[in-house]
Amino acid sequence: TIKTRFAPSPTGFLHVGGARTALYSWLQARANQGEFVLRIEDTDLERSTQEAVDAILEGMEWLGLNWDEGPYYQTKRFDRYNEIIAKMLEEGTAYKCYCSRERIEALREEQAAKGERQKYDGHCRDQGPRDTDEPFVVRFKNPTEGSVVFDDHVRGRIEIANEEMDDLIIARSDGTPTYNFCVVVDDWDMGITCVVRGEDHINNTPRQINILKALGAPIPEYAHVSMILGDDGAKLSKRHGAVSVMQYRDDGYLPEALLNYLVRLGWSHGDQEVFSLEEMKQYFKLDDINKAASAFNTEKLVWLNQHYIKSLDPVYVAKHLEWHMADQQIDTSNGPALAEIVTALAERAKTLKDLAASSRYFYEDFAEFEESAAKKHLRGVAMEPLQLIQKKLAALTEWTQEAIHNAIEETAAELEVGMGKVGMPLRVAVTGAGQSPALDLTMLLIGQARCEQRISKAIE
Ligand code: GLU
Repeated sequence: TIKTRFAPSPTGFLHVGGARTALYSWLQARANQGEFVLRIEDTDLERSTQEAVDAILEGMEWLGLNWDEGPYYQTKRFDRYNEIIAKMLEEGTAYKCYCSRERIEALREEQAAKGERQKYDGHCRDQGPRDTDEPFVVRFKNPTEGSVVFDDHVRGRIEIANEEMDDLIIARSDGTPTYNFCVVVDDWDMGITCVVRGEDHINNTPRQINILKALGAPIPEYAHVSMILGDDGAKLSKRHGAVSVMQYRDDGYLPEALLNYLVRLGWSHGDQEVFSLEEMKQYFKLDDINKAASAFNTEKLVWLNQHYIKSLDPVYVAKHLEWHMADQQIDTSNGPALAEIVTALAERAKTLKDLAASSRYFYEDFAEFEESAAKKHLRGVAMEPLQLIQKKLAALTEWTQEAIHNAIEETAAELEVGMGKVGMPLRVAVTGAGQSPALDLTMLLIGQARCEQRISKAIE
């Protein structure tokens, strides 16, 4: 079976680039009835933080990218890495290197002066065991002949001559294993069959393959995903706006919209733009990932968000809206069910944040009418229609959309004015503002008692 992993380094929040890599890796597993592993690569103790771990887990959970195994933590696996290092030393696939910092430095300068590529010269490689207390690092004995070839799902066939690689340090002089080595042991131990990661790791791949070979481990497939750029062509960064996944939640996006946006950002299936998760799983293929870098386009994300706010089950959308209501301190305990608000307002909302903001009057009385709307629609001439509709509404025995609609229509007919002459003052009276969804529906949701109180206040 296919087994993939997402292996973030916890040095910051989950950003959209990482989330897209995670999504592709997750889809590769889910599309093939495989398994998905989450691994936290926290060996860089100075840059890794618990907050970042929490932020990554929170982002993955919010997106719904569930994992079958993990999270594993590299810092908890040091014994295993050391065990493999000891075994490699014994088998002679690795060796202790006692070269001093000064020697390595001098070598580097010499090579630079000759215009040669900087590379460890293998000084300690064939010296055999030495009886000394000198500090040492452990280096992998990279093959010196032949080449490493792999077929990357995104970038095609890649071949690197072994000569171009030097003997990688796998354990530092303080005994701690190095990053590339931990990745190899993990991918092996965790049975990873397919590595999906950022293209910034492509130079590590041939070295990792050589170590896997030396360990007798199977070689996974690889897919190195291109970068995401901002709309100006520069590498996506904070100055292009939100880059953290959770910031998109805060800004009012649904996870479905962000996932759909991210899957299309660098992958395509014909010219289809909208993909449910089921469709993604059905159609996803690593080979259809684009090689070119992709540019982030917020407008398209907004368009998808609107689409999902309108088309997903309102009860589900309401669950996400609830977060924004709380965030904006709107107490929803007294008023219509949130799902009804979603149905009423979905058509006009770009984000859940906007939707929450524009639904406040369903739950809370407002202190003031919006000034321009009140000036225009609550003038003296509006009082007559308001007084008449107030009477009609008070007489209603059932508070239905139809009954409300009829009351407005009758008021206009009796006063021989257009519907707008009744509707606009009424709208301002009950919502406080000049814009709302259909008035009968709006009033239905606000409720009879509240509407009556607000109309009285407008008449005063
Ligand atoms: N920890 C690496 C990163 O966050 C990913 C390494 C890998 O996927 O092999 O960039």
